[in-house]
Amino acid sequence: MHVRSPFARPRPRRRARHLRDRRTGCARIQQVRTPFQVRVLFRSPHGAPLERARYAAAAMEDLFERARRAGKRALAAGALGPIETEQERLVDDGIPFVIRVVSSLARKEQAARSRPPTADPFGPWEEALFVGDAGDDHVLILNKFPVYEGHLLLVTRRFEPQESLLSTKDFEALAVCLAHTRALAFYNSGRIAGASQPHKHLQLVPEPWPGDTRAAPLESARQQGRSLPFPHASCATPSNPKDWPHAYADLLAEAGCSAAPAPYNLLMTHDWMMVVPRSREHYRGISINALGFAGSLLVRNHQELELLREAGPLRALTHVCRLGPSPRE
Ligand code: AMP
Repeated sequence: MHVRSPFARPRPRRRARHLRDRRTGCARIQQVRTPFQVRVLFRSPHGAPLERARYAAAAMEDLFERARRAGKRALAAGALGPIETEQERLVDDGIPFVIRVVSSLARKEQAARSRPPTADPFGPWEEALFVGDAGDDHVLILNKFPVYEGHLLLVTRRFEPQESLLSTKDFEALAVCLAHTRALAFYNSGRIAGASQPHKHLQLVPEPWPGDTRAAPLESARQQGRSLPFPHASCATPSNPKDWPHAYADLLAEAGCSAAPAPYNLLMTHDWMMVVPRSREHYRGISINALGFAGSLLVRNHQELELLREAGPLRALTHVCRLGPSPRE
């Protein structure tokens, strides 16, 4: 198997032999691809071969920097429609939440309406939104309508349904992206879990998010030695990415979501993974996806903000979760 850095663009073999490290001027003499790393041998100016396994790492550290540059280009090309929001902080039972109130949802809704309902916006993805390859089977693209700067979508090259279970290949692509970047990755499995697009896509946002609280509810509750009121299964993220698919399968089983399609949200950082079983998309008209369980909710207007303030975010989150066992069990 063969996984490329998200930033490695295909180059003809003959040219690749003459590549140089821009910083050191060393000539690249060999490249070895492993599932989670690109190991590169360079010849130093003094002639000694010098292994630069950190070559891929350096590129990865630029994940969101590269996304920012791609975002600037996409914006200039008119391909990006950022959603402006105002932020409000709510603290519910000692747990901090950030509520974003949309001020330009009209633009997104208009764009959505202009597409036929069956259209797959990722098949193919818009070239102007391309950020990089993530292995043979996935690409990283910019979210066309970002609320968060640097919001990336990890999309399968070929169509797979959004309700399908995440595969080993999905986790390998995710590992490539997370290798040297702090990010929150999440997956909204199906419409009830808050997904708006049918083509399989994981999502990544920088962590911590600019202006947001660092403490997601799970971290916050753990720090306070408390449990969360909504049903969930969580664990520490295994340090070896090869163990991620097993950890995910265990969490799905614990949350009663093993039999696809069972709507759920997966959230994952370098520190923890969490699966939340879902029964409905909305709380009183407010659509909730994985980011809600990371402490960030999006509302369309101030009325919805007031609804959340009255009920409290934890109640809204609990309302959209599946409390009992999965109907398929
Ligand atoms: P979700 O709503 O969780 O399924 O995530 C899908 C994301 O795709 C949404 O946040 C949309 O803003 C975004 N999106 C919609 N259309 C496109 C498109 N043509 N290219 C890239 N992203 C898109």
